[in-house]
Amino acid sequence: MPQQNNNRKSDLMTPDNKNKILREIPSMDRLLRAPQIAEYEKQLGHANVKALLAELLCTVRGEILSGERTSADSGEIAARALSMLASHTVQDLRTVVNATGVVLHTNLGRSPIAAEAAKHACDTAASYSTLEYSLENGRRGSRNDHVERLICRLTGAESALVVNNNAAAVILCLTVLAKDRESIVSRGELVEIGGSFRIPEIMELSGTKLVEVGATNRTHLRDYERAITDNTAVLLKVHPSNYRVVGFHSEVPREELASLAHRCGLILMEDLGSGLLVDAGRLGLLDTEYPTVADSLKAGCNIVTFSGDKLLGGPQAGVIAGRKDLIGRLRTYPLTRALRVGKMTLAALETTLRIYLRGDELSIPAIEMLSKREPELLASGRKLLRKIRKVLKSLQTQRASAELIPAKDAAGGGAFPQSELPGFAVALDIPEAGGAGKTAELLRRCPEPVIAVVSDDMVLLHIRTLRPGDDVRITSAITHVLDTLRK
Ligand SMILES: *Cc1c(COP(=O)(O)O)cnc(C)c1O
Repeated sequence: MPQQNNNRKSDLMTPDNKNKILREIPSMDRLLRAPQIAEYEKQLGHANVKALLAELLCTVRGEILSGERTSADSGEIAARALSMLASHTVQDLRTVVNATGVVLHTNLGRSPIAAEAAKHACDTAASYSTLEYSLENGRRGSRNDHVERLICRLTGAESALVVNNNAAAVILCLTVLAKDRESIVSRGELVEIGGSFRIPEIMELSGTKLVEVGATNRTHLRDYERAITDNTAVLLKVHPSNYRVVGFHSEVPREELASLAHRCGLILMEDLGSGLLVDAGRLGLLDTEYPTVADSLKAGCNIVTFSGDKLLGGPQAGVIAGRKDLIGRLRTYPLTRALRVGKMTLAALETTLRIYLRGDELSIPAIEMLSKREPELLASGRKLLRKIRKVLKSLQTQRASAELIPAKDAAGGGAFPQSELPGFAVALDIPEAGGAGKTAELLRRCPEPVIAVVSDDMVLLHIRTLRPGDDVRITSAITHVLDTLRK
């Protein structure tokens, strides 16, 4: 057994002692003779396995020299080598069970796409395709064509362009439409989204001069009016996404901004953040005021940008919809080439948009999860609870328990900041694990990781964000956790 890290003890280690322990480290040949090595060589390649083992031996040597390790138990080192190799055979980007109740969880990949969209992406990726080819005339086509018409039909836009994400969409638009000129933004909309996207910095990067108007909580039309100069190019409206000013608050309606912009020959651009394509009310969402892309365009915005993987429920992408001449200018700008999307994204986006066109948006996972009502969640919750209790009973754990409790879910992705969605969660208590944080960690480290929430020293498994088959993954994970604790 390795002895505990103990500085005083290591200080007592003489160089002779250290040399003796160094000689006890198992050799590379010895490690390579383990019967499991053949399988790892098959998966990782012989040279790789050898290199990884050499790195490990080097680390062990370092631990001995620094005094961190005071023995070289060969069985322990061999076991460590095998578990290290095992960790290299699993994919690094893995699927997980999202039991957080946050539907558009940015760290967990935002929206899962519809199975149909995923299939189109896979098929397109594994084959040649009409990515930039016209079957009609056998000549070169444009990759944007596959989705442009669909976006236009769904939003009422004249024209549309798709880039890598919404951040790219905003940068591209401001660069092309307002570089070296002024863009006017309300102080209430100078927001930061997810740390790396801050409107003032994005504007600086785009080379447009930010002109702030109004106050954080109130901005009037006359504020915009007064700020317009000969050098103004754009009036920019930004959806505050993850924050909301409540109380004494006013912003200028889009229609009024539009008429001001158009009277002065300016462009009204809106960064909508989440691209909602269908009415929030129709989805049963609390904030029915949330504008759709069509609302924004109809109110007179000339250019609207939004994400593909927020409320739209598609792949990561940034959609720019609006006036034909403006989109035309974006299309030919050299930066656009650097921001273009790949064929898998286009395929997934095309299918997602087609699902909307046929009015079948409930088969888009994000929309389906957001629309779930309490009775449905309660029924699914009870089902999961029964399965979990059955597992706990069969494993004869004396102290572990589970119960279903009301919980607050969230849309996430900066959508609907103040509308917490009422939901349910299974509260899991495994006292053997030694605390809720430890239980959550063990669930996270399972072969099929389950991401739970720790709240008030409870581990919560939210029902809303569970996908088909997750019940089984959760019960297997709990079994795995209890097995690990018994060892
Ligand atoms: C999320 C968001 C962005 C960034 O979108 P990405 O697709 O993540 O690049 C930009 N603006 C607003 C208002 C947002 O909500």
